[in-house]
Amino acid sequence: MTMAHKVDILILGSGIAGMSTAFWCQNLAPSSKITLIDTAHSHEDHSSHRNAGIYRQSEANSRLVKWANQTPKLWATVLHEKFLHKAQDTPQIFDHCGVLYQAEHLNALAPLAQNLNTLGVEYQFFDNAKPQTKSREHALWVPSDGTLQSSLLNRTLFRSLESMIHQGDIETVEGADEGWRVTLQSRGRTKIMKARRLVIASGSLASSHAAKFGHKLEVQPRKRHLFHLKFNCTIASLFSKYEIRHTRDGPARSTAQERPPVVWRVDHNAEAYLRPLNQHEALACVCDSQDTHPTDLTTSLSWQHDAYPIFAQRLFPPPPHRVLRSWAGLRSFVEKGPLFSCDENHPNLFWAVALGGHGMSIGFAAGRELAEQIVSS
Ligand SMILES: Cc1cc2nc3c(=O)[nH]c(=O)nc-3n(C[C@H](O)[C@H](O)[C@H](O)COP(=O)(O)OP(=O)(O)OC[C@H]3O[C@@H](n4cnc5c(N)ncnc54)[C@H](O)[C@@H]3O)c2cc1C
Repeated sequence: MTMAHKVDILILGSGIAGMSTAFWCQNLAPSSKITLIDTAHSHEDHSSHRNAGIYRQSEANSRLVKWANQTPKLWATVLHEKFLHKAQDTPQIFDHCGVLYQAEHLNALAPLAQNLNTLGVEYQFFDNAKPQTKSREHALWVPSDGTLQSSLLNRTLFRSLESMIHQGDIETVEGADEGWRVTLQSRGRTKIMKARRLVIASGSLASSHAAKFGHKLEVQPRKRHLFHLKFNCTIASLFSKYEIRHTRDGPARSTAQERPPVVWRVDHNAEAYLRPLNQHEALACVCDSQDTHPTDLTTSLSWQHDAYPIFAQRLFPPPPHRVLRSWAGLRSFVEKGPLFSCDENHPNLFWAVALGGHGMSIGFAAGRELAEQIVSS
């Protein structure tokens, strides 16, 4: 007979949603036994490692704004308290246009915006509100809130939780008011886990988990592609016209920044951004969003035929030297936005799903809020 492993908190899924929830549960209730189960063999397989890491403070929903404001502060504190021993070890968790620079950033970007204007490109700072110019043609936005080093943060979190993460494929989930019984296949063996509290954090697959115990949850997975490009010239030279100079009321910024800001291009039909990674490389995205199957990570967009024509129109004329890699990831949505809460019918069931396009911006704070609910339940 298969022995059941008993835990206090069982989390299905180890993307940013599952890991943040586990991290904060462990912090708030250190004696709790917590296990995360994931079908993926490596953390690089899930969306939390496949994204562009753009950090956005501005969202329509006030709960998202709150989480987006808390997330970078929590990261900064946690990196210091938990993972770093000396202040000088602090990795820069934001690229140069991140929140740490936000106050000066708007000023520093003013000349850039003027240059763009002379090129006939409309611009708007992508600041604390939804962009207003969406209906106009050829607007170019420069987000003032930054790009998060999401893969660094994701890896840091993964390493700190590695001993709690187990690979397995869930077969059945049976509920009882006293707890949950989950059967899974792990390395060819059947395992049974019994948990007092269950957290569903399985991203695009949350619908199928919900169905296992008769719950209907419409999670819509949408596929998005990223292209890792290498240029012969420096990325900065692509934007050399947009040199950022000293501004009257801002701090001195007399030279062109080494790494230009993330740049968005928007018109009626297309939206795109370029996120510099280093002097010669950048991630490019045309903000595609295709409804898809919850496990479909095949690349179905081509740089040459689909993406480059959009970029070439205005953003940067020279074609990249090489496309080093391209990949797709899933962003999952439910109608009312991210679902981080206790289930209405089961007091021991919690949802951490549907982070949509915002997972890296809000996931760490949302996980903490959920952990508070879990440990006090
Ligand atoms: C191309 C792209 C660009 C993006 N850019 C940004 C950005 O710039 N800024 C931003 O904030 N967000 C961005 N996002 C969104 C962000 O990546 C997601 O919101 C976030 O990663 C979702 O995290 P998650 O934990 O909910 O899901 P995931 O990271 O997908 O984690 C879910 C986990 O559940 C596991 N799982 C699935 N089925 C099972 C099962 N049966 N049993 C156990 N485990 C299971 C999966 O293997 C996976 O590890 C982007 C996404 C993509 C694809």
